[in-house]
Amino acid sequence: MNIFKFGGASVNSIERIQNLVSIVQKYSHTSLVIIVSAMGKTTNALEKVAETFYNGNKNEALQLFEIIKNQHLSTAKYLLVFRYNECHAQLQDFFTEIEWLLHDQPVRDYDYYYDQIVCVGELLSTCIISHYLKEEKITNTWLDVRDVLRTDNNFRDAGINWTDSSAKIKATINAGITVTQGFIGATADNESTTLGREGSDYTAAVFANMLDAESVTIWKDVEGVMNADPKTFKDAVLVSELNFTEVIEMAYYGAQVIHPKTIKPLQNKGIPLLVKCFLNPSLPGTIIHKKNIYQLPPIIVIKDHQVLMHLKTQDFSFVGEAPMSSLYELFAKIKIKPNLIQSGAVSIQICLDDHPTKINDLANEASATFDVQIEKQLSLLTIRHYTLEKIASLTSNKKILLQQQTPETMQCIYPS
Ligand code: ASP
Ligand code: MG
Repeated sequence: MNIFKFGGASVNSIERIQNLVSIVQKYSHTSLVIIVSAMGKTTNALEKVAETFYNGNKNEALQLFEIIKNQHLSTAKYLLVFRYNECHAQLQDFFTEIEWLLHDQPVRDYDYYYDQIVCVGELLSTCIISHYLKEEKITNTWLDVRDVLRTDNNFRDAGINWTDSSAKIKATINAGITVTQGFIGATADNESTTLGREGSDYTAAVFANMLDAESVTIWKDVEGVMNADPKTFKDAVLVSELNFTEVIEMAYYGAQVIHPKTIKPLQNKGIPLLVKCFLNPSLPGTIIHKKNIYQLPPIIVIKDHQVLMHLKTQDFSFVGEAPMSSLYELFAKIKIKPNLIQSGAVSIQICLDDHPTKINDLANEASATFDVQIEKQLSLLTIRHYTLEKIASLTSNKKILLQQQTPETMQCIYPS
């Protein structure tokens, strides 16, 4: 059993859906679970529907949903001949479910409605793709993942019930090809949930773990994992082999390679993750597995929207265990995670993502113990496996506010 994951960009046009089918064709006699995201920017469009509905603009929400409906219907119409009617009927059921809800008055909290509405993106895309695969003579089973992936009711960031989901997934998935949705699940009461934006990679890893798959392949529009963002660094190179630790570090520092939650389910079972290019499947891509890898190129990650908080003890007393531990308790309470901390005799500096309300809360609470100063609009540069030349070339014209270095990793903060 292998798992394929196709993201929104790989199904955002007729040509790309046809391309997906040509990739799957080569594996049509194997056992495969194909996890698919919503098409293109559908999730963003559905978020708008949910917001508009929740703000009480029912008619506008319905109009916005109408656009999404028409996009999917015209895609289905273009791709399908023999199976159009059957597909149309299935799409219509999904549309009706949402429209039904949009006619209601919201009485529960926003996150609940968000999940009931936004989950339809993946249902629509997989429905069309499953029918189109069949039309192209690739036998497959469409699965509503909400029937097998049980989650808690922490809407918009639902946690998976591993025991129940694993039993259901093992009992449901057979040999051959299954097409199902990433990103969504359901509670024991059959309320739809989502796993957090960009969560389809995670779904693929969860299925792989539960089915003891041989591998997961994430099909992307890039050659594989690069050592830096090619949009910023023209000299970015492909890294053909990485281990799980390296990838989890990269994701933690802000690289938008793979959803960070994806790694653990695969690492725990030693299931390799392949990142391949759907535009040119013959390219080797990147393999991520459990293996020591030496001689990696410098890996560069830049995270913008950073804040540097300077804390000083008010009475010039040393920053001891007590203020330190109360500070960590505050992080947990506010649910904010420091990206970097530097502590001195009477001061602490903390680099954090700029969530304005959380930063405000933290500053307010910390001001009971410390003098607080905040610098905003900063970037955090991380270089793993750095060379001194690399550090020099990336920092020479910057005003470095803070720098930390281990033998493996250099991090510094500067105004964006
Ligand atoms: N469609 C969802 C999103 O755009 C999930 C995913 O693409 O992974 O966030
Ligand atoms: Mg996506």
